[in-house]
Amino acid sequence: MRKSAVSKEYVNLQKDILRLQEQWKKGLDTSCIRLQGKTAGVAESVPAAALAEIDFDISLFLQWIKDVGELLGAKSAELGIKVERLVTGLDEKGTRRWIDEACALNNLYFDSFAQEHGVEAWIPQFLAETALRPYLQLLAEVVENDDGIVKDASAGAGCPVCGEPVRLARLEGEGKKLLCCPRCLAEWNEKRVYCAHCGNDDHETISFLTVEGDETAQIQACEKCKGYTKVIDTRQFISKPSSAMLDLTTIHLDYIAQENGYVAAGATR
Ligand SMILES: [Zn+2]
Ligand SMILES: [Zn+2]
Repeated sequence: MRKSAVSKEYVNLQKDILRLQEQWKKGLDTSCIRLQGKTAGVAESVPAAALAEIDFDISLFLQWIKDVGELLGAKSAELGIKVERLVTGLDEKGTRRWIDEACALNNLYFDSFAQEHGVEAWIPQFLAETALRPYLQLLAEVVENDDGIVKDASAGAGCPVCGEPVRLARLEGEGKKLLCCPRCLAEWNEKRVYCAHCGNDDHETISFLTVEGDETAQIQACEKCKGYTKVIDTRQFISKPSSAMLDLTTIHLDYIAQENGYVAAGATR
């Protein structure tokens, strides 16, 4: 089993993007987010993002899209040209549409947008999603209570803040399990033996796969729904990576889990 199955260039590009997002987020203020009553973040199965009102700065958002386009262009001139083609005609109305569709995770919209502009389907969605994340991360901070943790999550609902399917957890303190979202960086508690995808907490049907040569990583696999979660013991880490970075550097575990027949979002839905 290879410890890392991802190319260095890919990881480096992603790291550059994470740095860019951190920088962008510093310029945002929580006052641009309004939660709707007490339902935000704790409503059954509904992510806070679906209930929150976010005032997006449209021209800033467009600038971020251009920034990330520039980064892609620096890695590949061909990609840079394609991004340019997408972004050139993007006005305020168009950017607003991108934000709406990115929030709604509307792949179809971005697929057809890409097709219209003769570029690969992943490019526009990737650009929009990249620029959306700092807002989602800000939302997670607003939703988190004083402990810096999101209060509750229901099995199968994904991240309580942004709805991203669960795939990552880390251990803390005495071995407490914290689920963490690599998309919005929200964190929330979960029982040590519990499947976030289907709610199964039966020791008999939840197993832990380990990876040779890596004592800090486990794959928690559920036989009931075939869902898995990467569980990383970050307590020994010298510097604690963000959940986004941790997800990126443990991508080999996703491959191992999937090779073994497990799926990230579970199979119950
Ligand atoms: Zn999230
Ligand atoms: Zn399960």
